[in-house]
Amino acid sequence: MTPPMKALIYEGPYQMHVRDVPLPGLQPDEVLIRVAYSGICGSELSGYEGKNALRKPPLIMGHEFTGAVEAIGETAERMAPKLEVGDRVTVNPLITCGECVYCRSERHQLCATRRLHSAHLPGSNAQFIAVRADAVIPLPGDLSLKQGALAEPAACGVHAARIGMAQAGETALVAGAGPIGLLAIQALRNRGVETIYCVDLNAERRAMAASEGAIVVEASDDALRQNADLAVDAVGLAATRQLCQSATRSGGRVVWVGLHESHSALDVNDAIRREITSIGSFGYSRGDFLDAVDALAQGRMGLPDAWTRVEPLANGAACFEELLQGSSVAKIWLTIEQN
Ligand SMILES: [Zn+2]
Ligand SMILES: [Zn+2]
Repeated sequence: MTPPMKALIYEGPYQMHVRDVPLPGLQPDEVLIRVAYSGICGSELSGYEGKNALRKPPLIMGHEFTGAVEAIGETAERMAPKLEVGDRVTVNPLITCGECVYCRSERHQLCATRRLHSAHLPGSNAQFIAVRADAVIPLPGDLSLKQGALAEPAACGVHAARIGMAQAGETALVAGAGPIGLLAIQALRNRGVETIYCVDLNAERRAMAASEGAIVVEASDDALRQNADLAVDAVGLAATRQLCQSATRSGGRVVWVGLHESHSALDVNDAIRREITSIGSFGYSRGDFLDAVDALAQGRMGLPDAWTRVEPLANGAACFEELLQGSSVAKIWLTIEQN
């Protein structure tokens, strides 16, 4: 009999409890990871509310995590020959086929058979998680388990900046200073973008954006009138989508990242007349993920401790509630006591 482990189980809208469940069965191509930190992602909040068709109960959420290798499956040893038990790792939770036209052209995020831990596959809000060996990424020596758990949201920021073709000397707007917005600001800065404006309604988040070097302005500010080379919408509401377009100069680019509402009113005729390029940005490729790990290890990305919090797994449901109420903490990590 496999020993049970503790896991935070989503059991229905607003229902989440720590339960004893069996250890994940280890497939030959998988690695078992003892979870250290598991971040709560904004995308999981709608799941907790029962508003996300991909997240069906019972489900273990969590896809932003680090931990230590506990066991390595038989064929996994060949897939990741350098991996050893005890290694500190993070995981690219977007599992893709590796063979389709998208996977072969560094656009893994578009793979038709992609599966995400925390939605299609069990997540990391648990003592252990089993993941396919090729998704496991060793942490560089100077990257902490805590900051390493930012690799996934950081990869979203890296991807948005890359696909938005951000270049040195440009001017950008980032709408929304939540974790993705903040990490996008860092990714834009790392590509040499010179001036980054940021808009957010929350005073603490505005302060966070400012300390990342962004110029925090009101949506009505003159600086946002057809001035930016590119705008990144890290919210996904009609107001921020329209703001991003209005702030972009003729011939500029708008990068859509936030998924808040499905349909939004947008002045498309304006986009036509001013030749605004519209760029959807979803997830990240493997290369983006590795770039994010490097940037975190080099301190070029990351979230200061003062903006984050660590909570025991047992407080998980309360943390989901708090984030739904609009907490301004940039990231809450659940830690999993191993006993
Ligand atoms: Zn996430
Ligand atoms: Zn594929």
